[in-house]
Amino acid sequence: MQRSFDGLEVEVVRGDITDQPDVEAIVNAANAELMPGGGVAGAIHRAAGPELAEECRPLAPIRPGQAVITGGHRLPNRHVIHVLGPVYGQDRPEEKLLADCYRNALRLAEENGVSSVAFPAVSAGAFGYPLDEAARVAVRTVREEASRLRGVRRVRFVLFGERELEAFRRALEEAA
Ligand code: ADP
Repeated sequence: MQRSFDGLEVEVVRGDITDQPDVEAIVNAANAELMPGGGVAGAIHRAAGPELAEECRPLAPIRPGQAVITGGHRLPNRHVIHVLGPVYGQDRPEEKLLADCYRNALRLAEENGVSSVAFPAVSAGAFGYPLDEAARVAVRTVREEASRLRGVRRVRFVLFGERELEAFRRALEEAA
């Protein structure tokens, strides 16, 4: 599924965020300490090698909604953009903090000359954000940022499971 917003190509695919060789930056649903852990962060650090954690150490901790950028090391991507999503029911206002993750990641991509970015479903795993709402916030925020982006031409949402894929596909279809 694919749509274009103000010339920005937005697509939704099922897959693994560590296996997106044709995008310049992948986004990590990180923890505050920017350490490996489980879920997306564990997979990204495994694929990137221990050099990623080393580069991350001086950048931590980060706050909910914040984004920082590193190299991709052994990943096929030039950069990893690490965001800290809100823990649902704990970090408030959660909708703004989740939108901040997408907005700040796109702005960092733009500042670093990145033309394509792949996102996972930030906060929708261990952090408990209801999937449909998380998908709507993600798509809406990318849509809102589209007119501001010059260098970033392509955004891909990479969803691990069928349920996540469906939620993001619906959110993209229904986006105004
Ligand atoms: P958070 O702590 O922000 O909730 P998680 O890593 O627990 O982040 O999960 C976020 C989403 O990423 C979940 O939908 C999970 O199924 C998915 N996910 C886990 N591993 C991968 C991967 N390798 N590629 C893409 N998505 C993944």
